[in-house]
Amino acid sequence: MREWIDMRVGDLLFMRQLPAGVGVSLYSEADREMHRELEGDAYREDDEPRRLYYPKDSPVWDQVREAICALRGTDHEPVYNAWYVRRYTQRELISAELLRLLIPRDFEPAGEECGTVYDESASCPRCGAGRIQKSDLHVRLRRVFQESPSIPQAKRTGIARTIADEIIVSRTAADLMRQARITGVKLLPVRGCGSDADITPLWQQFAVVGSAGRMMSPTVFGVDPFDLDEEGEFRCPMGHVSGLNLLSEVYIDRNEWDGSDAAATADLVGRRVGLLVPTPVTLISQRFYQLLKENNVKGFKAEVAHLV
Ligand SMILES: [Zn+2]
Repeated sequence: MREWIDMRVGDLLFMRQLPAGVGVSLYSEADREMHRELEGDAYREDDEPRRLYYPKDSPVWDQVREAICALRGTDHEPVYNAWYVRRYTQRELISAELLRLLIPRDFEPAGEECGTVYDESASCPRCGAGRIQKSDLHVRLRRVFQESPSIPQAKRTGIARTIADEIIVSRTAADLMRQARITGVKLLPVRGCGSDADITPLWQQFAVVGSAGRMMSPTVFGVDPFDLDEEGEFRCPMGHVSGLNLLSEVYIDRNEWDGSDAAATADLVGRRVGLLVPTPVTLISQRFYQLLKENNVKGFKAEVAHLV
């Protein structure tokens, strides 16, 4: 596995603290022309928003970390987005017993906006975890990527999720799972947007019921690679939410995993804000991974997870 950090910076004060020439500009030539016209002689190419993309152990990140500390020391909270990118060899992926299922692209609106009913009466007052779905899932189907009949079956999305992490799978993918007797998942009806919308034959909800126990050390949570939330602002004191973001690979206690092909962690990641909810991490068995891979199901990525 190789690991990088991907960072976007548009904060002038922050960029001026970074080593000269680090990263690449996010501006096209046309953007640059427009800003030159607007700003005239005051325009500096060094001030353009930048992308920094370097291996996790690059010395650049030590300098970035120092710049962040220096700015926080002057009461300026630097503005940036940063996340880890992990790449695996095929051998690493096919030899892992357990993998983390990622669905990189999400779609709107959330099920809640389309008529899905949730009972939040027993949700945690601190982190908002624990809502219970009380109706079929309703989603705006035309917003789901590539479900149009004009797109060949082989190129259609097989697995997708809303911004609230409601996961749906195509009928083809659902049939594969049934035939292979994939355990730990319930395939439920999906309806279109609107409380009186009909059940669609094209999609099913992918509801994970297998259990993987809590994520354990050395799993790392935090806001981003440069802010590990040491104060615990985003951790639920009742233990439901472990952090705003999952920053590392996942580690699971082998005795806690129920052996299902699809399993959710007991602790969650994220926050209750607007339509977003904290959600568990989904883990899949090697058998399930092979099934998705061999049948060319589109819309997912996998990372190695560790059973210890
Ligand atoms: Zn809680």
